[in-house]
Amino acid sequence: MEGLSNIGNIKDILSRHGFTFSKTLGQNFLVNPSVCPRIAELGNAREGFGIIEIGTGIGVLTHELAKRADKVCAIEIDERLMPVLAETLAEHDNVKIINEDVMKVDLHKLIAEEFAGLEVAVCANLPYYITSPVIMMLLEQRLPIRTVTVMVQKEAGARLCAKMGTRDMGAVTVAVNYFSEPRLLFNVSRGSFMPSPNVDSCVVRFDLRETTPEGVRDERFFFRTVRAAFSQRRKTLANSAASGMGIDKAAAAAAISRAGLPENVRPEQLTMEQFIAFANELSEEL
Ligand code: SAM
Repeated sequence: MEGLSNIGNIKDILSRHGFTFSKTLGQNFLVNPSVCPRIAELGNAREGFGIIEIGTGIGVLTHELAKRADKVCAIEIDERLMPVLAETLAEHDNVKIINEDVMKVDLHKLIAEEFAGLEVAVCANLPYYITSPVIMMLLEQRLPIRTVTVMVQKEAGARLCAKMGTRDMGAVTVAVNYFSEPRLLFNVSRGSFMPSPNVDSCVVRFDLRETTPEGVRDERFFFRTVRAAFSQRRKTLANSAASGMGIDKAAAAAAISRAGLPENVRPEQLTMEQFIAFANELSEEL
């Protein structure tokens, strides 16, 4: 439906369907007509691509994706939106709506069944209550996808796209850099949504790496170490890793020393290679 992201049309559709917003499901719908075309274009919605969308709302982004990509599979948990989408996306025969919780969908199967012969990308205005779990689920599964382009809260975007070795980084920064090259694409003001949230947003894109960094002895242990390292902000690596892993500080200190790092180093000062070296050495201590 053209003019779908026009606020008057959105209000009309929602009131005709008696729709009320669910805070629990993170329902802040985009009402700024310039945002969805930009997400679609920067998010690889184009010929030769199949797009997975997460959280359709009334279909404003779905419509822009369907205009550009070969096929769109859009996952939306809220059953109340199904009749709305049947109306707003009626003109597109390349859209499949999946009424499910994205965390329960077998995405490997979906890609194999729906996107044969196509490159695949993910685009979404994510529900904020599950931003990190969704991003990590998409990256950790090693899905055959090229890019993940998502709208997130501005603070979350800063953390996700922080440079390794800088103050802004956290465990999630290490994780996304392990699997992808993250980049901040553009900011979106809170006034672009209905209802308007208390914070501004931004759109970020993760370009998936063909191969993850070398030298990690045990991936699960590596990520456990990273989470432990950031479990207590502003503590030294030795203190936070020791308490996060439940080990002696002396053991953490020995691993730090063997990794060639200064005694009082803080987790946010480490590069990817240094995190890998530290986790490998720490595994020797357990
Ligand atoms: N794409 C729409 C837009 O930009 O206007 C809606 C975005 S809104 C921020 C997030 C959407 O995700 C809502 O429609 C909500 O119902 C849906 N959602 C919430 N949790 C979900 C889940 N676990 N799985 C799939 N969709 C979910």
